[in-house]
Amino acid sequence: MSNCLEGRTVVVFGVANKRSIAWAIAQQMQQAGAQLAITYQNERLKQEADELIAALPNAQAFQCDVSRDEEIAQLFEQLKSRYGKLDALVHSIAFAPAEELKGEFAGTSREGFRVALDISVYSLVALARAARPLMTEGGSVMTLTYYGAEKVVPRYNVMGVAKAALEASVRYLAYDLGKNKIRVNAISAGPIKTLAARGISGFGDMLGAQAERAPLQRNVDVKEVAATAVFLASDGATGITGETIYVDCGYNIMGF
Ligand code: NAP
Repeated sequence: MSNCLEGRTVVVFGVANKRSIAWAIAQQMQQAGAQLAITYQNERLKQEADELIAALPNAQAFQCDVSRDEEIAQLFEQLKSRYGKLDALVHSIAFAPAEELKGEFAGTSREGFRVALDISVYSLVALARAARPLMTEGGSVMTLTYYGAEKVVPRYNVMGVAKAALEASVRYLAYDLGKNKIRVNAISAGPIKTLAARGISGFGDMLGAQAERAPLQRNVDVKEVAATAVFLASDGATGITGETIYVDCGYNIMGF
């Protein structure tokens, strides 16, 4: 897939550090020829993000907290004046208060539910809508999801419910944006050790079960997730929209 994104502009949301799935995606997209806008959440994270992003050729850092409409509007104004158009958007963002990711789902607080769905799901809707006028030649929007959307993964709790809503949002957005030749898909990744993953109690058990039961008998490599993201942004995927694509070494096909 070398140079398959030559001349394209991609905006990536969700780089917290060098372990982030979004960072692996940004690197492979850059290697495939794309120029990149990469966002970080706030001033507190600016220095680390700036240093990381500065090391990537053809990439520029922008600030955007996706829970704030005014920051989204401001970011897309900046993207419009800097790049003119966009070809792909990567949404690699999720958040739930730590106390919601232990114990029972039945104990989920109203506020924990609201925050998890706002940041992990509504943000995709808001970002896709803001990107639409900049994707003048069509485009590819993608998000990251997990198997806990469809089966119970103990302690994944409200995040599983958020991922179910995220996957449904992908289908509704794919329908609405299809008329603009914009495709919207989700990548369902197997467990990968990242900052967000560390917040899920029992994450080590998830890694172990995956490696034991998946047909490929191992955990997924973040580079495999990134390669799928490059594919979804490329002309190889122009017929694919509204899908959840599993990059999980086959774990999801198993009944036992
Ligand atoms: P990560 O490195 O911690 O990335 C999560 C990102 O979400 C961080 O960059 C975080 O920024 C950002 N974020 C949270 N609230 C935000 C806000 N209000 N505005 C802007 N950004 C915000 O973890 P990751 O594992 O790569 O997660 C990326 C995506 O992959 C998530 O959707 C996750 O659910 C999904 N996923 C992960 C796995 C896994 O096993 N790791 C498996 C399947 C799917 P801050 O750190 O600055 O808050």
